[in-house]
Amino acid sequence: MTTTTLSSSAETATVSAAPTQLLINGSWRGAAGGRTFPVDDPSTGTPLTKVADATPGDATDALAAAHAAQSGWASTSPRARSELLRSVYEQMIDDVEQLALLMTLEMGKSLAESRAEVRYAAEFLRWFSEEAVRVDGRYAVAPDGDGRLLTLRQHVGPCLLITPWNFPLAMGTRKIGPALAAGCTVVVKPAQQTPLSMLKLAELFTQAGLPRGVLNVVPTSHSSALVAPLLSDARLRKLSFTGSTDVGRALIAASADQVLRVSMELGGNAPFLVFADADLDAAVEGAIAAKLRNIGQACTAANRFLIEQPVAEEFAARLADRFATFRIGRGVDPGVDLGPLIDAPARDRVHALVQEARADGARVHTGGEIPSGPGHFYPPTVIDDVSPRARLVSEEIFGPVAPITVFQDDTDALTQANATAHGLAAYVYTRDLSRALRLVEGIDAGMVGLNQGTVSNPAAPFGGIKHSGFGREGGHEGIDEYLETKFAAIAPLRPPI
Ligand code: NAP
Ligand code: MG
Repeated sequence: MTTTTLSSSAETATVSAAPTQLLINGSWRGAAGGRTFPVDDPSTGTPLTKVADATPGDATDALAAAHAAQSGWASTSPRARSELLRSVYEQMIDDVEQLALLMTLEMGKSLAESRAEVRYAAEFLRWFSEEAVRVDGRYAVAPDGDGRLLTLRQHVGPCLLITPWNFPLAMGTRKIGPALAAGCTVVVKPAQQTPLSMLKLAELFTQAGLPRGVLNVVPTSHSSALVAPLLSDARLRKLSFTGSTDVGRALIAASADQVLRVSMELGGNAPFLVFADADLDAAVEGAIAAKLRNIGQACTAANRFLIEQPVAEEFAARLADRFATFRIGRGVDPGVDLGPLIDAPARDRVHALVQEARADGARVHTGGEIPSGPGHFYPPTVIDDVSPRARLVSEEIFGPVAPITVFQDDTDALTQANATAHGLAAYVYTRDLSRALRLVEGIDAGMVGLNQGTVSNPAAPFGGIKHSGFGREGGHEGIDEYLETKFAAIAPLRPPI
């Protein structure tokens, strides 16, 4: 493990420059009652700062502000909304170093990964600045030739956006971007473990001149209690959630009360298929991206490596060789590839999955042991001979562990790939075009990586099927989640007088 540390004064300065209060109706304020909660550095386990701990009453104030700002924001010109998003995009790019350092400190990933996320997050603002001016409708002659059909699209109304800790900025901007572009106002509830990046982003929006009340941010240490009154408040019209399937399921149920529009980006269990005809070098590189990005803590992370029998041994050996070269340590330190997992329970859970598989006969090629010292580190791990019953392959690992199982032919590959309740991402490596397209069509997933280990792109629709949720973020589809369709039936035209 790397032990050198970046200048602690740069870290301190970055943390102290981040807002730590609630943003409600354009003002920064403490929580009612003045309570705060700590934000920790997962690479040391030590607190970085304290953040205002919003109460349900604060959240209701935030919704009231979003509701009051709604009609004014929706009546701004699409061009004005577009340019505001564009200016925050540019500011994020200018501030990439500071935003990346703040993200690494609160979330743990390496600075290189944080920089990549800041840019990726900013791209959603640029993309939706471009989409803001492309919301249109249609006009049609009714099939019987008499009436006319006018279709228009309008903002949904005030939205609640709930985001996870694994991508503290990108999971926010891919909701905030389309919501604001469509003319919706929002209340954002960031994850308790990573509120600072979102608060900093909110500051950029206020500095760019966003009208008060359009974007409100309410970090809290008791999300369930904070969210409940919002979901039963008639002023809220939309819920967009990214997080675990269990919490998503509970929120879907709670959203029934006010019959909310709902988007759900939930957990995954992505299969990574390598056929014997594949370019094995490319497959190993793709596997590294699909597994080690974000220290394995990505909803799109490859969760099960399904390898065609003739190349399985070689793939495991080559992947293990590469995994063993990754350096783990504090994300801020130079030369570090992989930071820690988010907290001790997350790390202990990942290790328990590995231990269980091992006890059931699996073979560890590299990794598999918790390193000594502070921080919630776990080494990149390759493990094969994994039983199909193992939790390691049936549950979302959310850590840098690659379980390898073998398949015999195309039918077996597809059957194993689809043997999960989830359906977010899948990856396929083959040189056979027909097979590739058969799998794209046959795999139960919202996204397929074909001979590449990443799927995320702001210009493409991101989302899942089955227990991975519904709705899409990014692409042309992303803004649809924040628009209602209205139709006007127009009486037959009078003949000329
Ligand atoms: P999580 O526990 O479900 O938390 C996600 C967000 O929901 C956090 O802001 C959390 O607040 C909040 N929350 C938790 N319980 C809640 C409740 N009862 N009512 C209202 N809000 C509640 O998920 P996580 O463990 O932080 O994140 C990892 C999960 O997210 C994984 O399953 C991953 O696959 C999924 N994910 C999906 C996508 C996608 O696009 N499909 C992208 C990224 C991550 P607290 O911080 O206070 O718990
Ligand atoms: Mg959580």
